Amino acid sequence: MNKDASTTGEQFRITQDQLQKLLDVLRDQGYETVGPTVREGVITYDQIDGVEDLPIGWTDEQEPGKYRLKKRSDKALFGYVVGPHSWKKFVYPPRQLLWRMHRDNGTQKLEEPSEDYPRYAFFGVRSCEIQALAVQDKVFMGSDYRDRYYALRRKDNLIIAVNCVEPGGTCFCASMDTGPKARKAFDLALTEIVEKDQHYFLIESGSDIGTDILSELKSDPATDKQIARADELLEKAARNMGRQLDTTDIKDLLYRNAENRHWEQVAKRCLSCSNCTMVCPTCFCSTVEDTTDLTGTSAERVRRWDSCFTLEFSYIHGGAVRPSEHTRYRHWITHKLASWQDQFGTSGCVGCGRCITWCPVGIDITEEIKSLQDSESLTSDEAKAKE
Ligand code: SF4
Ligand code: SF4
Repeated sequence: MNKDASTTGEQFRITQDQLQKLLDVLRDQGYETVGPTVREGVITYDQIDGVEDLPIGWTDEQEPGKYRLKKRSDKALFGYVVGPHSWKKFVYPPRQLLWRMHRDNGTQKLEEPSEDYPRYAFFGVRSCEIQALAVQDKVFMGSDYRDRYYALRRKDNLIIAVNCVEPGGTCFCASMDTGPKARKAFDLALTEIVEKDQHYFLIESGSDIGTDILSELKSDPATDKQIARADELLEKAARNMGRQLDTTDIKDLLYRNAENRHWEQVAKRCLSCSNCTMVCPTCFCSTVEDTTDLTGTSAERVRRWDSCFTLEFSYIHGGAVRPSEHTRYRHWITHKLASWQDQFGTSGCVGCGRCITWCPVGIDITEEIKSLQDSESLTSDEAKAKE
């Protein structure tokens, strides 16, 4: 490819060996590349050095409360969707040291957290996950109160997206308008095409950095037929989402239904385990903990992930603001889909489906909204009969 050519938005065809070359270029440019890889029976995100670290020939089966890896009949590199981890753990880690204090011979020394963060290349980012990073950018950097640690870790991230041609059983990004094709905020985007007799990738650049990296690869301009095939796969993926969520009037629906008896029905199943918030790529609740060692010579303050599903999270002045499961579930879903819009100007849900898959009792955010919608169309006699 001609290095001087302007390629943003144009599609090129590369083979698998050029994907390895891409990883080599990233390493040579000083990036720490993290991407999907199989660990302990799930696909997670971790450091990858070569194409062989990707989950080659694996797929994931996902349903409410169920996740299984399964072998595919082909050697697809990206033939699965999202696992329990998200990119959140790299930019907003589960545990962040705020300060540490040491006492030594009567003097006290303050240790600040290291700010020497890796220059990350996120490899294999799904469209819904790009949107989740954008949501978190608003939360942590979108006002006068910027989160210093998040901003430092997020700086200079390189995003290599993968368009989803096979949605999972709990995905609903098409309903949330966040996928399955990455439309913005990426440096490079890949579409994998596996046919009976050929296996290749379409690649497009979304930034000047992406264009420079792409110029290092051996590629051919994609033909009209190859582009049409990729479009066809993406349209099919959008039509075949595992789930759907009707977002019409969703904010007012939730506000109108704060006292709906349905919340008590959900609470009978909800364990308040907080799994849904831990796996969610946009949830951002945290708490601050102070600890000292047993000798009393050092102390530290850390910020760690917390969840609005714990009783302690809303504990103030001798009591919890949300003492019951039903108030906590109602709070979570109302924040995600309604008050998040008032607070940050966007939905707090990107339709990744993780909270459905990883809920041990299979509570499904799309079904809960549907139940509220249905309850509004029931007559009072029908509603009573349902209780
Ligand atoms: S609420 Fe559920 S579906 Fe929506 S972004 Fe969070 S984990 Fe994904
Ligand atoms: S909705 Fe499911 S995952 Fe979330 S707290 Fe309740 S039981 Fe746990």
